[in-house]
Amino acid sequence: DASTLSRIGLAGLAVMGQNLALNIAEKGFPISVYNRTTSKVDETVDRAKREGSLPLTGQYNPRDFVLSIQRPRSVIILVKAGSPVDQTIASLSDHMEPGDTIIDGGNEWYENTERRIQQISEKGILYLGMGVSGGEEGARNGPSLMPGGSYQAYTNIQDILTKVAAQVEDGPCVTYIGEGGSGNFVKMVHNGIEYGDMQLISEAYDVLKHVGGLSNSELADIFAEWNSGELESFLIEITADIFKVKDEGGGDGYLVDKILDKTGMKGTGKWTVQQAAELSVAAPTIAASLDCRYLSGLKEERENAAAVLKEAGLNEDLGGFVRSGIDKKRLIDDVRQALYASKICSYAQGMNLLRAKSDEKGWNLNFGELARIWKGGCIIRAVFLDRIKKAYQRNPNLASLIVDPEFAKEMVQRQGAWRRVVGLAISAGISTPGMCASLAYFDTYRRARLPANLVQAQRDLFGAHTYERLDRPGAFHTEWTKLA
Ligand code: NAP
Repeated sequence: DASTLSRIGLAGLAVMGQNLALNIAEKGFPISVYNRTTSKVDETVDRAKREGSLPLTGQYNPRDFVLSIQRPRSVIILVKAGSPVDQTIASLSDHMEPGDTIIDGGNEWYENTERRIQQISEKGILYLGMGVSGGEEGARNGPSLMPGGSYQAYTNIQDILTKVAAQVEDGPCVTYIGEGGSGNFVKMVHNGIEYGDMQLISEAYDVLKHVGGLSNSELADIFAEWNSGELESFLIEITADIFKVKDEGGGDGYLVDKILDKTGMKGTGKWTVQQAAELSVAAPTIAASLDCRYLSGLKEERENAAAVLKEAGLNEDLGGFVRSGIDKKRLIDDVRQALYASKICSYAQGMNLLRAKSDEKGWNLNFGELARIWKGGCIIRAVFLDRIKKAYQRNPNLASLIVDPEFAKEMVQRQGAWRRVVGLAISAGISTPGMCASLAYFDTYRRARLPANLVQAQRDLFGAHTYERLDRPGAFHTEWTKLA
């Protein structure tokens, strides 16, 4: 009886799967759920009852699960990326039929998705690799969704995805991304951009704290204030909140000061930087963020280096003389502007990486739409993304966000503040690798002439690699040492 069948299924009921299943059920779509370890099925069924008698049915084996879904069937899987996805596909696809669809919502490497699209097509099964952003909260209340792969598969569940996704004033935070593994790739770059945003915010904190001498409660106020202007975003908002939390672990003071300064990571940032290198796209801000995570991991080495360099005569408080002459109000305003300008450069890098991949793969990505679906639900959600959307609407072939007339004006207005902050930080010995990388990117990109002429001359001298000339066409070689 078709009326008792579920509209969609979801397998994999850890944090993400459980919450996304409840979200789908809450939007009125009857859903079947399944998990390898069946206690999680019971857990999810219980939550569905508690959270409002939602139309959710628990299933305890792959066959019953698949057969409980209306045809053509759509099954979302949210299990650990990699071989668990292959194993889950194998166990489910045995019971599926041509025209049915598997949707992998995990943070999967895009090439795995492209391999699976090929493999599963032999059975006539359609496939989507769908980036899901926003963590637990997003999955439950409205994530940003990045589905790529079969367009037919997308249209089969478009009504569900548009209701389940986060809603912003210009629509639901979902769009069909493109073919193949494009959905996973876009999610990967989203995460790389997220690394950049978090790094830049941590540098702003570092400068305000160590050069400006700001307290945690002052920082909470500053970030809250920033969150009502051009920097308004989820990450700025949660940063303000973090500075308000006192240590509950028995100590006095703030929790943020008690946290070990070692950053975890799961790999999407590294993939982003690897892809940038593969595609010859400069992404120095994102790379600097990744490097900082690596350096943060060397806690013991850093403690040792601090001691050795102090022994050797390095004054720990290089910031003292800088701080003595500081105008706090102006520093705060400068840091805000430096953060904003640095962020534009970081997004320019991420978008250009997406463009390079889109060209290579023929994905035909719509950058304005990507900025739009990131406006809600996801970790990088920000008012600023609306400006990016508009920049690409003005010119879909924009070479870089930096040369969009609106952003260009903003960067030029902020460059004084930006240079002051980076200069102060350098004098004070406070590392700001993200802001420095962004500024160097800006200063390199905006210069019509670079010292690359000298590098070409060197290459030609030692390797006869030849060079081109400014004044006439052709490849030239010179016997440099004979002429010198
Ligand atoms: P997870 O910890 O990555 O994975 C746990 C789930 O995978 C469980 O349901 C587990 O089943 C299942 N699983 C593991 N190995 C399996 C196998 N060999 N066969 C079948 N099932 C297997 O879960 P998660 O944190 O909810 O994340 C799911 C996906 O979403 C991941 O790709 C993750 O990267 C991505 N993601 C996570 C977040 C987040 O905030 N957590 C945000 C965005 C995206 P059992 O219960 O039987 O062990």
